[in-house]
Amino acid sequence: MSTAELLVRGATILDAGGPLRVADIRTEDGTITEVGPGLRPGSARVIEAEQMVAMPGLINAHTHSAQNLDRGTTPNLPLDLWLMWAVFGKPAITAEDRYTLAMAGALEMLESGCTAVLDHGWVAPWDFEDYSEAIMSAYADAGMRVGLAPMIGDLDIFDTMSFAGASGPRPEPLGDPFEAEGLLESMARFFDRWQGAHSRLTPMVGPSAPQRCSHELMEGLARLAGARGAGFHTHVLETRTQIGANLERYGRSSVSYLEDLGMLRPGSSLAHCVWMDPDEFSTVRRCGATIVHNPVSNLRCGSGILPVADLLEGGVSVALGADGAASNDNQNMFEAMKFATLLQTLHGSHVRWPQAPAIWRMCLQGGAAALGQPLGSLQPGSAADIVLLDTERHMPVNAEGLATSLVLAEHGESVHTVIVDGEVMVSEGRSTRVDKSTMAERSRALQRRFHEALPERQAFYDRYVDVLTEIHDYEMARPAPVERLARITPAFGAAG
Ligand SMILES: [Zn+2]
Repeated sequence: MSTAELLVRGATILDAGGPLRVADIRTEDGTITEVGPGLRPGSARVIEAEQMVAMPGLINAHTHSAQNLDRGTTPNLPLDLWLMWAVFGKPAITAEDRYTLAMAGALEMLESGCTAVLDHGWVAPWDFEDYSEAIMSAYADAGMRVGLAPMIGDLDIFDTMSFAGASGPRPEPLGDPFEAEGLLESMARFFDRWQGAHSRLTPMVGPSAPQRCSHELMEGLARLAGARGAGFHTHVLETRTQIGANLERYGRSSVSYLEDLGMLRPGSSLAHCVWMDPDEFSTVRRCGATIVHNPVSNLRCGSGILPVADLLEGGVSVALGADGAASNDNQNMFEAMKFATLLQTLHGSHVRWPQAPAIWRMCLQGGAAALGQPLGSLQPGSAADIVLLDTERHMPVNAEGLATSLVLAEHGESVHTVIVDGEVMVSEGRSTRVDKSTMAERSRALQRRFHEALPERQAFYDRYVDVLTEIHDYEMARPAPVERLARITPAFGAAG
C-alpha cells in the first residue's frame, strides 16, 4: 500500500452521482480522504489537473488474461465451436509466457483508463504455484488492481456439453481430466500465499462454469470461498446450448444449483447470464450477486442479448466485462461501454434503452460489487483509483453529457494520468513502471508463436466442427424458456 500522499488539484470531477464540479482530491495510504475546493497540499505530491477531468478508474469485471495476445486469431463462432479454436487447439505456454500475457493486458487496460480487473485467468493445474505467481507478479509490476480467480474445472470438455442431438458418438476425451482434490489443495495454497499479501492483489475463487466441474470440486470451492471470505466468480448460462447441459448434469438450472451451494451472495459475480429466465434474475437480485455483461464477446459468439434494461430497472447489480481477447479482441473498457450501450437498441422499446451514462455507472458500481471493494467512486473512503483525462475531445458542460461523450467517443486516447491505490501508474498516457520496449518484444515473439500455430489449430478444429455444429443446431432449435436472439427479417425473400 502506498504511504505517499497525493493532491490532485483543480480537476473537473465526474463521479458516479451528482453534478460536475471543480475540486481537489487528496489521497493517503491508497484511499481518497478528502474532496473539495482549495485543499492545502501539506506534504502531499501535487498533480496539477486544471484542464483535466478526474473520473473513477474503469473496472473490467470479466476477462481471461491468457488470451491477451490472441487478438485477430479466432473466427466468429458459437461458443462450443469457438472453444475448439480459442482454447483447446492452442500451443502450450510457460509460466514466463503467462507473465507476458498478463502484463500485456494490464498495460493495455491501465493506459486506456481501466484500473481494476477481475481476471478469470487460466492457471496450469500441473504448476499452479508458478503460473499464479507469474500472473500476480505481472499485475503487481504494472501497478494494476486485480482480483485473480483462477479458472479451473475437472471434467473433459465433451462431458460438459449435451450430445442429445448428435447422430454419432460423443468424441473421445481431449486429455486426462484433472483431479478435484489436487485442484482444491492448489487453491488453498494460492489463498495462503496471496490473501492479505498485497493491497492491490486479491485471490478469488473461479470455477470455469457449474457444468464444467464435478460436484466434489464445486462443493470444495464453495467451502473454500466461505472459509476465506473470498469473492466467487464463474460463467453462467452464456449460451442457449448450456441450458440443456446444466439440466443433464444437475437435473436443474445452474442458478438454483449455485444458490444451494451458497454461492449466490454479495461478492459473487456471474459472467454472461444471457439465457437466465426472469425467475433466475430475481434469485440473483434476492441473493445480492452481480451479473457481468460482456457485450462484445456475446456478439462475437452470437450468444444473444442480455436484457440490461430489465435488470437495471429490476434492481439487479450488473457489471461490465471485456471478456478475453480471443472473443473481443482487445481490453478497452470504453469500447465495452459503447457496445453495451448500442447493443440494447436491439432489445425492447426505445423508451427503455439504457443510455450511455447508465452504462457508465453500471461499469463502475457493478464492477465494485463484483470485486467486493470500495471502487468506482471519488468519494472520501473510496480506493484512490483515479483517471485524469485531457478534455480536448470532450466538452465538460454537465455530467450526463460528459459521460455520454466518454462512452461513445473515447477509446482511451484522452487518458493522461492513471492513479491506482494512490500511486501514479500512468503519466502522459504511458506506464511509469514498465519498460515497454522490452515487454513489446516479448509480446511480439509470443504473438508470433500463436500465429504460426494457426494451421494446426485449423486442423484441430476441423476434426470436431461437424459434430459440434450438429449439437449446436439441435440445441438452438429446441424450445427455450426465453428468447435472447434478435430475429432479423430475411432479405430478398430468402428462406429463414
Ligand atoms: Zn469468459
